[in-house]
Amino acid sequence: MPLDWQSKLIHSQAAAPAGFRSLATPTYRGSTTLFDRVADAQVDWDQTRAPYGYGLHGTPTTLELAARVAELEGGGDCFIVPNGQAAIALVYFAFTGAGAHVLLPEGAYRPSGELADRVLARFGVETEVYDPLIGGGIAELIRPNTRLIWCESPCSVTMEVQDVPAITAAERRAGVVTALDNTYSAGVLFDAFAHGADVTMQALTKYVGGHSDLLLGSVTVRDEAHRQALGEARSLLAMSVSPDDCSLALRGMQTLAVRLRHLEESTLAVAGWLRGQPEVQTLLHPAFPECPGHDFWARDFTGSTSVFSVVFKKDIPPEAIVSLVDALALFRIGYSWGGVTSLAMPYLALQRRFHRHSGKIVRFNIGLERVEDLVADLERGFAVLRGQAVAV
Ligand SMILES: *Cc1c(COP(=O)(O)O)cnc(C)c1O
Repeated sequence: MPLDWQSKLIHSQAAAPAGFRSLATPTYRGSTTLFDRVADAQVDWDQTRAPYGYGLHGTPTTLELAARVAELEGGGDCFIVPNGQAAIALVYFAFTGAGAHVLLPEGAYRPSGELADRVLARFGVETEVYDPLIGGGIAELIRPNTRLIWCESPCSVTMEVQDVPAITAAERRAGVVTALDNTYSAGVLFDAFAHGADVTMQALTKYVGGHSDLLLGSVTVRDEAHRQALGEARSLLAMSVSPDDCSLALRGMQTLAVRLRHLEESTLAVAGWLRGQPEVQTLLHPAFPECPGHDFWARDFTGSTSVFSVVFKKDIPPEAIVSLVDALALFRIGYSWGGVTSLAMPYLALQRRFHRHSGKIVRFNIGLERVEDLVADLERGFAVLRGQAVAV
């Protein structure tokens, strides 16, 4: 049928030659996906098993990223969601409902608790904060209506490493879902499933992305009933993701091993230097013995990564700590971590019920700069802090 040029814009006969074989996963964009016949038309969220029906449920690009994350984590299946917090939200929505009781470690990623308190509470979900070092003692907190136990190891900012196997063993007796935020280990330095977790999630934003230019999350699961609950909730909550972002994550994944190795080494060096400064009370880095739960890290992890915190002594004025961070040139001030740039962020009003600190904390992320340059930058910052501390 001869077509007018206007129709040719939509129904072209022209096409590039086939047979191009790149090493990169193609970026498939698409909302509508086509069926050959009306009889073939169907939509099912489970596009790893049913034919493609709609882009919301995944494109080959997103499903390849999902399969690769699941492969790395040793899980059954993985769902890619818009970011780490969306992964957390998905877990709550899949496994809780009115009347449910949730256990969340103190020190969990703060927006997780805020979601529970400000949104899920309105739907009748009750969240109880527990001591991250509770271990098997979690059994005493489990109620008949407990549906979900969160673990995050190490915790955000205060870096408590959890005894995940002890917690998940208690959970198995009671038959509730244990979900682990495994962002710190990039899903590879701590084997969540081998340590008993039912569900594991990551902010791919951090190490898999690796370059501070992308937001993405993942939820990986082994049990089929849990997979169904997550898959259905993900599709009904419409947590679709951009294939372009997934393409960046697939690229980031290729260099994950070299980045993690390098970051670990540089971070241990910089953290070790900070630990020696007289103003520093405690170093909160899982590989150092003074970090709460360090023994669990040594037992269960195969490495450490780039994020850690420093607790300053009580008598250091907060303004002096701020002046230190403001004086840094290579360390930039910003949230998130896991990229190539070193970052510093003060947390000067942090309240912790179970593991008290002076409350004067700076969290660092080490990037790919040379260690000597980072230490020189910190030396400059400490000189400013010392000037301030004397002046105050
Ligand atoms: C950053 C982070 C998240 C949230 O990830 P986003 O992609 O920024 O939403 C969740 N958990 C932990 C432990 C994180 O560090």
